Amino acid sequence: MNSMNPAQAQQAQQQQLQAALENAEDVNCDECENDRFVPVFVVKKISALISPSGQEIVVPIQALKCDKCNHINELFLKPQTP
Ligand SMILES: [Zn+2]
Repeated sequence: MNSMNPAQAQQAQQQQLQAALENAEDVNCDECENDRFVPVFVVKKISALISPSGQEIVVPIQALKCDKCNHINELFLKPQTP
């Protein structure tokens, strides 16, 4: 048996992520250089004029704000494309 079971595959993936994280750079706040962030929701309102459904919709977008000065980096407001 040479194939990995799901648990082993997951472990291998985690090890890969761990290795990648060791070389990753920290993201700092654009305003105060702080490196701690808390999750918040930014809410976008799409007017009925441009909404695909023709009705006003409210869309929450998860972003991260600086733990110190509450600034939200623009990086966190960009749509996350997979
Ligand atoms: Zn800050």
